Amino acid sequence: MDLNILVLPGDGIGMEVTAEAVRVLRRIADKWHHQLSLTNGLLGGIAIHKTGSPFPEETARLAAAADATLLGAVGLPEFDAAPPEKRPEKGLLAIRKALGVYANLRPVRAYASQLDSSPLKNHLVEGTDMIIVRELTGGIYYGTPRGITENGAETRAVNTMTYTRAEIERVSRMAFHLARARRKKVTSVDKSNVLENSQLWRRVVIEVAKDYPDVELDHILVDNCAMQLILNPRRFDVVLTENMFGDILSDEAAVLAGSIGMLPSASIGDRRPSGAWVGLYEPVHGSAPDIAGQNKANPLGAIGSAGAMLLYSFGLKEEAAAVDAAIEAVLKSGKVTADLRPAGAPATTEEVGAAVCAAI
Ligand code: NAD
Repeated sequence: MDLNILVLPGDGIGMEVTAEAVRVLRRIADKWHHQLSLTNGLLGGIAIHKTGSPFPEETARLAAAADATLLGAVGLPEFDAAPPEKRPEKGLLAIRKALGVYANLRPVRAYASQLDSSPLKNHLVEGTDMIIVRELTGGIYYGTPRGITENGAETRAVNTMTYTRAEIERVSRMAFHLARARRKKVTSVDKSNVLENSQLWRRVVIEVAKDYPDVELDHILVDNCAMQLILNPRRFDVVLTENMFGDILSDEAAVLAGSIGMLPSASIGDRRPSGAWVGLYEPVHGSAPDIAGQNKANPLGAIGSAGAMLLYSFGLKEEAAAVDAAIEAVLKSGKVTADLRPAGAPATTEEVGAAVCAAI
């Protein structure tokens, strides 16, 4: 099969972890005789430095032409004081919107060999296996009006949380579809006791659920969800939520997996005529300026994202399963980076990538 992939390493550790994910893709292509065509592009802070824009037109063109996009992370401290429109993170929001990838799938698993890496008690974390389905192209991160109106003591800042019925419906269908292949339970997260936006969310989710009578649906308020993720994570199978709630809850859920460096994600849009999903694949973590350039970053989230690409964009089930199995084998072997608090000396980013390839 031809695997035509755009690689956007981005900033900070994005570059380091993407290099390892690409190494794993090469190994897969080699073993299963696929033709790998990789194109590199610019996104985020590096794109601002080189072109003046966090999402250059050339990157938009390359992303539209590729079968799938692999992304590292964006963000550089020198842009911390810049307005949102001029920050690297704007590139991330823009590419998600341009590709129309409205459903962000974030699997969270507690691997048996890593239970001690979580600061939570083993008996609470053990058996955790959920997928957070976060709406990705709507809500408060995109809504207008937005901005700051300067006026002395009356200076006002506005952001708008907005969703249409259609936006809620399509991401809900994705969640129910995924639940059917898992434990058949969807938990929808909202704040319907306070927000009209959430009231519409809940109404539409209930309507969609009628088409999936074999899937159980329950609702939970976002504040309680934040608590239940820590108290009783095993109660969750598919967690369906809007953009900002999903952003926050999935970082919290990273604690269950031992480190945020472990978490992969797949952002999926509509199906192409070939039947493959349009997809953008990236680890959940950011550019981690505190450890960038030190060969210390955990590449397993990025490698898992490459595995998700094989599954969703290329339909390569066996290859995707081989990546997952290799990750599990490396975790069991103890050859892991410092964030997972190994018993012995921590492995480097490159050593973990090489170990995953060897396990494949
Ligand atoms: P972060 O995820 O970059 O880092 C949070 C903490 O987790 C840091 O201590 C970091 O060292 C650690 N960490 C993250 N990934 C790791 C990995 N793979 N291995 C080991 N440790 C890891 O979040 P932050 O510090 O809040 O943000 C840093 C920059 O990244 C900011 O500019 C932010 O806007 C950006 N950001 C980008 C994305 C993205 O590109 N998807 C996501 C979140 C944050």
